[in-house]
Amino acid sequence: MPITDLLPLFGDEKMTSPLIIAGPCSAESEQQTLDTACALAAAGVRVFRAGVWKPRTKPGGFEGIGTPALEWLSKVKEETGMLVATEVATERHVHEALHAGVDVLWIGARTSANPFAVQEIADVLASLPDHRRNQLTVLVKNPVNPDLELWIGALERIYGAGVRRLGAIHRGFTSYGKHIYRNPPKWRIPIELHRRLPDLPIICDPSHIGGKRELIASLSQQALDMNFDGLIIETHSNPDAALSDKAQQITPEVLQYIVSTLVKPEQSTSTESLALLRQQIDRIDDELIEILAKRMRVARDIGRFKKEHRMPVVQPGRYNDLMQRRVDTAVSLDMDAEFMRNVLSAIHEESVRQQLEICAETLLDKQL
Ligand code: PEP
Ligand code: MN
Repeated sequence: MPITDLLPLFGDEKMTSPLIIAGPCSAESEQQTLDTACALAAAGVRVFRAGVWKPRTKPGGFEGIGTPALEWLSKVKEETGMLVATEVATERHVHEALHAGVDVLWIGARTSANPFAVQEIADVLASLPDHRRNQLTVLVKNPVNPDLELWIGALERIYGAGVRRLGAIHRGFTSYGKHIYRNPPKWRIPIELHRRLPDLPIICDPSHIGGKRELIASLSQQALDMNFDGLIIETHSNPDAALSDKAQQITPEVLQYIVSTLVKPEQSTSTESLALLRQQIDRIDDELIEILAKRMRVARDIGRFKKEHRMPVVQPGRYNDLMQRRVDTAVSLDMDAEFMRNVLSAIHEESVRQQLEICAETLLDKQL
């Protein structure tokens, strides 16, 4: 289904450039919702987000306040004039959110992975009177799994319901094992989405990609370098006390600071290709770090073996042999021999440090 004839995401509303959507992961109390919203409005943010129903991985976690929190969103609208956004996953959520005057609905990553749920939402949207549907903005997060077709399928279902203020949110993809990112961004996928649906606005969610406050600024800049249309950033008046996703939430003041440091690239082909190349470098660096971590894990296993068999940690014969073979390979790949010696010696030094740590641990255990 071609997705064309889209309308601006927010009608005639004047938006910041880049577009910033901000607010807490969850609306937790009236005070937390209003405090956060007022600080954001004062910082110039025009769209407020807050989860009312929270899809948690396991039962027993904070699953959102539910229906009563919708009243707080109405108050935010009234008191700040901001547009308000929340996540919907069922027919009931859509009815209740619309009844409360919510302007922007987003479909979460777990829901967009489920065509039955997306179709249920699409059917409600299709049944709305035209004027009501035309005022509404719907954003579709990528499904948790890296499946571009499933993401496009979800967008097509909402588009097929007649929604024309339609956008996508890139929030990274679930991945097994330890990673720098909570949900690795796999930038190739949103870039391919943009190639397939060039008119569709794409907003980046650095909060759920990074999972940590420290990663938000650099992920946001990367997204702008890749010509994303906006950012959705989890912001809380007191992040350390947040009931969900606290490690990734920032205060409205920090948000304002981060936004002030962002540089919007010039709209030219040359910056776009430069951004693509930089994005490749970022990805390769991440892979390098993960490979190094893997190497250190093996080095620690070797450390345990050496300890058990009372072997010395440093074995010079092995080290010299390893160094020479690696340097020869690097030179055959057009790298400088001295550079490769430095890299290998730094890696070796860290392996030795980790193995010595293991030996020390065992000694200490024996003493206890
Ligand atoms: C959220 O935005 O708070 C959320 C639950 O996100 P996601 O669906 O991307 O996990
Ligand atoms: Mn969240």
